[in-house]
Amino acid sequence: MRAVGLHADVVTATSRAYQTTCTLVRAGGEAFCIDSPVFPDELEIVPALAEQAGFSVVGLLTTHADWDHLLGRYAFPEAPLGCAETTATRLVNEPGDAQRALREYDEELYVERPRPLSLPSAQRLAVPGKLDIGDRELELHPADGHTHDGMAVWIPWARVLVCGDYLSPVEIPMVGGSVHAYLATLARLEPLVEEAEHVVPGHGAPIDGVRAAAILREDRAYLEALLEAGAAAKLPLARRTGAQRKIHAANVARLS
Ligand SMILES: [Zn+2]
Repeated sequence: MRAVGLHADVVTATSRAYQTTCTLVRAGGEAFCIDSPVFPDELEIVPALAEQAGFSVVGLLTTHADWDHLLGRYAFPEAPLGCAETTATRLVNEPGDAQRALREYDEELYVERPRPLSLPSAQRLAVPGKLDIGDRELELHPADGHTHDGMAVWIPWARVLVCGDYLSPVEIPMVGGSVHAYLATLARLEPLVEEAEHVVPGHGAPIDGVRAAAILREDRAYLEALLEAGAAAKLPLARRTGAQRKIHAANVARLS
Protein backbone atom coordinates (compact mmCIF):
# COMPACT_ATOMS: atom_id res chain seq x y z
CA MET A 1 0.00 0.00 0.00
CA ARG A 2 1.29 3.45 -0.92
CA ALA A 3 0.45 6.47 1.22
CA VAL A 4 0.90 10.05 0.09
CA GLY A 5 0.24 13.37 1.79
CA LEU A 6 -1.75 15.62 -0.55
CA HIS A 7 -2.07 18.47 1.94
CA ALA A 8 -1.31 19.01 5.63
CA ASP A 9 -4.88 17.79 6.28
CA VAL A 10 -5.24 15.08 3.63
CA VAL A 11 -3.48 11.71 3.31
CA THR A 12 -4.40 9.09 0.72
CA ALA A 13 -3.40 5.42 0.74
CA THR A 14 -3.71 3.23 -2.36
CA SER A 15 -4.42 -0.48 -1.90
CA ARG A 16 -2.58 -3.26 -3.73
CA ALA A 17 -6.02 -4.60 -4.73
CA TYR A 18 -7.69 -2.73 -7.59
CA GLN A 19 -5.67 0.34 -6.50
CA THR A 20 -8.62 1.13 -4.24
CA THR A 21 -8.05 4.39 -2.38
CA CYS A 22 -8.58 5.38 1.24
CA THR A 23 -8.38 9.05 2.23
CA LEU A 24 -7.93 10.56 5.67
CA VAL A 25 -9.07 14.17 6.06
CA ARG A 26 -8.61 16.32 9.15
CA ALA A 27 -9.76 19.65 10.53
CA GLY A 28 -9.73 21.05 14.05
CA GLY A 29 -8.59 17.86 15.78
CA GLU A 30 -11.17 15.64 14.07
CA ALA A 31 -10.61 13.30 11.13
CA PHE A 32 -12.68 11.11 8.82
CA CYS A 33 -11.61 8.04 6.90
CA ILE A 34 -13.17 7.98 3.42
CA ASP A 35 -13.41 4.53 1.76
CA SER A 36 -10.90 1.77 2.52
CA PRO A 37 -8.02 -0.37 1.30
CA VAL A 38 -8.80 -4.04 0.71
CA PHE A 39 -6.20 -6.37 2.25
CA PRO A 40 -6.15 -7.12 6.01
CA ASP A 41 -2.51 -5.98 6.46
CA GLU A 42 -3.35 -2.67 4.78
CA LEU A 43 -6.41 -2.15 6.96
CA GLU A 44 -4.28 -2.90 10.00
CA ILE A 45 -1.77 -0.17 9.07
CA VAL A 46 -4.33 2.62 8.50
CA PRO A 47 -4.82 3.49 12.22
CA ALA A 48 -1.02 3.74 12.71
CA LEU A 49 -0.77 5.87 9.59
CA ALA A 50 -3.49 8.15 10.95
CA GLU A 51 -1.85 8.37 14.36
CA GLN A 52 1.59 9.13 12.94
CA ALA A 53 0.15 11.96 10.87
CA GLY A 54 -1.78 13.28 13.89
CA PHE A 55 -5.22 12.44 12.54
CA SER A 56 -7.77 11.42 15.17
CA VAL A 57 -10.37 9.44 13.23
CA VAL A 58 -13.89 9.92 14.62
CA GLY A 59 -15.93 8.61 11.69
CA LEU A 60 -16.00 6.66 8.45
CA LEU A 61 -17.39 7.91 5.17
CA THR A 62 -18.04 5.83 2.09
CA THR A 63 -18.43 7.18 -1.44
CA HIS A 64 -20.78 4.31 -2.38
CA ALA A 65 -21.94 0.90 -1.19
CA ASP A 66 -19.69 -1.38 -3.25
CA TRP A 67 -17.93 -3.82 -0.90
CA ASP A 68 -14.38 -2.74 -1.72
CA HIS A 69 -15.06 0.75 -0.33
CA LEU A 70 -16.79 -0.42 2.84
CA LEU A 71 -14.01 -2.06 4.84
CA GLY A 72 -13.12 0.89 7.10
CA ARG A 73 -14.62 -0.88 10.09
CA TYR A 74 -11.70 -3.31 10.10
CA ALA A 75 -9.40 -0.33 10.68
CA PHE A 76 -11.67 1.62 13.06
CA PRO A 77 -14.09 -0.88 14.64
CA GLU A 78 -15.85 1.73 16.80
CA ALA A 79 -16.25 4.49 14.23
CA PRO A 80 -19.74 5.34 12.97
CA LEU A 81 -20.35 5.23 9.21
CA GLY A 82 -21.78 8.16 7.26
CA CYS A 83 -22.89 8.07 3.64
CA ALA A 84 -25.29 9.56 1.12
CA GLU A 85 -28.98 8.75 1.63
CA THR A 86 -28.87 6.82 -1.63
CA THR A 87 -26.08 4.65 -0.25
CA ALA A 88 -27.77 4.13 3.13
CA THR A 89 -30.92 3.03 1.27
CA ARG A 90 -28.91 0.64 -0.85
CA LEU A 91 -27.28 -0.87 2.25
CA VAL A 92 -30.73 -1.42 3.76
CA ASN A 93 -32.22 -2.83 0.55
CA GLU A 94 -29.30 -5.17 -0.17
CA PRO A 95 -28.63 -6.68 3.26
CA GLY A 96 -25.57 -8.94 3.30
CA ASP A 97 -24.54 -8.14 -0.30
CA ALA A 98 -21.28 -6.45 0.68
CA GLN A 99 -20.41 -9.27 3.09
CA ARG A 100 -21.19 -11.86 0.43
CA ALA A 101 -19.07 -10.13 -2.22
CA LEU A 102 -16.19 -9.75 0.26
CA ARG A 103 -16.41 -13.44 1.17
CA GLU A 104 -16.27 -14.46 -2.51
CA TYR A 105 -13.24 -12.25 -3.09
CA ASP A 106 -11.48 -13.59 0.00
CA GLU A 107 -12.21 -17.21 -0.93
CA GLU A 108 -10.86 -16.65 -4.44
CA LEU A 109 -7.58 -15.15 -3.11
CA TYR A 110 -7.36 -17.25 0.10
CA VAL A 111 -7.49 -14.08 2.19
CA GLU A 112 -8.16 -14.49 5.91
CA ARG A 113 -9.81 -11.77 8.00
CA PRO A 114 -9.83 -11.41 11.79
CA ARG A 115 -13.67 -11.37 11.81
CA PRO A 116 -16.64 -11.04 9.46
CA LEU A 117 -17.43 -7.55 8.19
CA SER A 118 -19.81 -5.76 10.50
CA LEU A 119 -21.62 -2.79 9.02
CA PRO A 120 -23.32 -0.48 11.48
CA SER A 121 -26.53 1.15 10.31
CA ALA A 122 -25.26 4.14 8.43
CA GLN A 123 -25.91 7.75 9.25
CA ARG A 124 -27.73 9.32 6.29
CA LEU A 125 -26.07 12.49 5.05
CA ALA A 126 -27.93 15.05 2.94
CA VAL A 127 -26.39 15.14 -0.55
CA PRO A 128 -25.92 17.71 -1.96
CA GLY A 129 -24.98 19.17 1.38
CA LYS A 130 -22.27 20.07 3.83
CA LEU A 131 -20.73 18.03 6.60
CA ASP A 132 -19.02 19.56 9.62
CA ILE A 133 -15.52 18.40 10.40
CA GLY A 134 -13.77 20.17 13.28
CA ASP A 135 -13.89 23.86 12.50
CA ARG A 136 -14.45 23.32 8.76
CA GLU A 137 -16.94 21.83 6.29
CA LEU A 138 -16.78 19.16 3.62
CA GLU A 139 -18.98 19.53 0.55
CA LEU A 140 -20.93 16.44 -0.52
CA HIS A 141 -22.03 16.13 -4.15
CA PRO A 142 -24.23 13.43 -5.68
CA ALA A 143 -22.23 10.93 -7.76
CA ASP A 144 -24.35 8.21 -9.34
CA GLY A 145 -24.10 6.35 -12.64
CA HIS A 146 -21.33 3.91 -11.69
CA THR A 147 -23.95 2.61 -9.27
CA HIS A 148 -27.38 4.01 -8.38
CA ASP A 149 -25.98 5.50 -5.20
CA GLY A 150 -23.04 7.61 -4.16
CA MET A 151 -21.39 10.89 -3.40
CA ALA A 152 -18.20 12.78 -4.11
CA VAL A 153 -16.44 14.67 -1.31
CA TRP A 154 -14.92 18.08 -2.00
CA ILE A 155 -12.38 19.30 0.57
CA PRO A 156 -12.45 23.04 -0.15
CA TRP A 157 -9.49 24.29 1.91
CA ALA A 158 -7.19 21.60 0.49
CA ARG A 159 -8.73 21.68 -2.99
CA VAL A 160 -8.92 17.90 -3.02
CA LEU A 161 -11.78 16.01 -4.69
CA VAL A 162 -12.48 12.45 -3.49
CA CYS A 163 -14.85 11.35 -6.21
CA GLY A 164 -15.58 7.63 -5.76
CA ASP A 165 -15.53 5.41 -8.84
CA TYR A 166 -15.15 8.13 -11.47
CA LEU A 167 -12.13 9.72 -13.21
CA SER A 168 -9.96 6.66 -12.74
CA PRO A 169 -6.61 6.52 -14.53
CA VAL A 170 -6.72 2.71 -14.39
CA GLU A 171 -10.37 1.78 -15.00
CA ILE A 172 -12.80 2.77 -17.76
CA PRO A 173 -16.27 3.92 -16.64
CA MET A 174 -18.01 0.89 -15.15
CA VAL A 175 -21.69 1.56 -15.68
CA GLY A 176 -23.67 -0.31 -13.05
CA GLY A 177 -26.24 2.50 -12.78
CA SER A 178 -26.99 4.37 -15.99
CA VAL A 179 -24.96 6.05 -18.72
CA HIS A 180 -27.06 9.23 -18.53
CA ALA A 181 -26.60 9.47 -14.77
CA TYR A 182 -22.88 8.84 -15.24
CA LEU A 183 -22.64 11.67 -17.79
CA ALA A 184 -24.58 13.97 -15.45
CA THR A 185 -22.14 13.15 -12.65
CA LEU A 186 -19.17 13.97 -14.88
CA ALA A 187 -20.81 17.33 -15.69
CA ARG A 188 -21.30 17.96 -11.95
CA LEU A 189 -17.69 17.04 -11.15
CA GLU A 190 -16.22 19.13 -13.97
CA PRO A 191 -16.16 22.53 -12.19
CA LEU A 192 -14.69 20.88 -9.07
CA VAL A 193 -11.99 19.20 -11.14
CA GLU A 194 -11.13 22.58 -12.64
CA GLU A 195 -10.55 23.95 -9.14
CA ALA A 196 -8.83 20.85 -7.79
CA GLU A 197 -5.20 20.58 -6.82
CA HIS A 198 -5.60 16.80 -6.49
CA VAL A 199 -8.30 14.32 -7.46
CA VAL A 200 -8.55 11.00 -5.62
CA PRO A 201 -10.39 8.43 -7.76
CA GLY A 202 -11.89 5.32 -6.16
CA HIS A 203 -9.32 3.26 -8.08
CA GLY A 204 -5.87 4.54 -8.99
CA ALA A 205 -3.36 6.78 -7.25
CA PRO A 206 -4.23 10.46 -6.76
CA ILE A 207 -3.80 12.64 -9.85
CA ASP A 208 -3.60 16.37 -10.41
CA GLY A 209 -6.52 18.43 -11.68
CA VAL A 210 -5.17 18.72 -15.23
CA ARG A 211 -4.83 14.94 -15.61
CA ALA A 212 -8.28 14.42 -14.07
CA ALA A 213 -9.79 16.89 -16.55
CA ALA A 214 -8.22 14.94 -19.42
CA ILE A 215 -9.63 11.67 -18.05
CA LEU A 216 -13.03 13.32 -17.67
CA ARG A 217 -13.00 14.26 -21.36
CA GLU A 218 -11.95 10.72 -22.35
CA ASP A 219 -14.64 9.15 -20.17
CA ARG A 220 -17.33 11.43 -21.58
CA ALA A 221 -16.24 10.59 -25.13
CA TYR A 222 -16.27 6.88 -24.30
CA LEU A 223 -19.77 7.02 -22.77
CA GLU A 224 -21.18 9.04 -25.66
CA ALA A 225 -19.67 6.52 -28.09
CA LEU A 226 -21.13 3.70 -25.99
CA LEU A 227 -24.61 5.21 -26.41
CA GLU A 228 -24.13 5.71 -30.16
CA ALA A 229 -22.08 2.72 -31.22
CA GLY A 230 -22.39 0.14 -28.41
CA ALA A 231 -19.72 -2.55 -28.68
CA ALA A 232 -17.86 -0.56 -31.37
CA ALA A 233 -17.12 2.29 -28.94
CA LYS A 234 -13.38 2.87 -28.65
CA LEU A 235 -11.76 2.51 -25.25
CA PRO A 236 -9.50 5.30 -23.93
CA LEU A 237 -5.97 4.71 -25.21
CA ALA A 238 -4.29 4.06 -21.86
CA ARG A 239 -7.09 1.78 -20.63
CA ARG A 240 -7.39 -1.05 -23.15
CA THR A 241 -6.25 -4.12 -21.25
CA GLY A 242 -8.15 -7.37 -21.25
CA ALA A 243 -9.73 -6.47 -17.90
CA GLN A 244 -10.94 -3.13 -19.28
CA ARG A 245 -12.36 -4.84 -22.38
CA LYS A 246 -14.33 -7.11 -20.04
CA ILE A 247 -15.77 -4.06 -18.29
CA HIS A 248 -16.63 -2.64 -21.72
CA ALA A 249 -18.42 -5.86 -22.69
CA ALA A 250 -20.41 -5.71 -19.43
CA ASN A 251 -21.35 -2.09 -20.16
CA VAL A 252 -22.58 -3.09 -23.63
CA ALA A 253 -24.56 -6.03 -22.23
CA ARG A 254 -26.22 -3.81 -19.63
CA LEU A 255 -27.25 -1.27 -22.27
CA SER A 256 -29.02 -3.77 -24.51
ZN1 LIG B 1 -14.92 0.44 -6.57
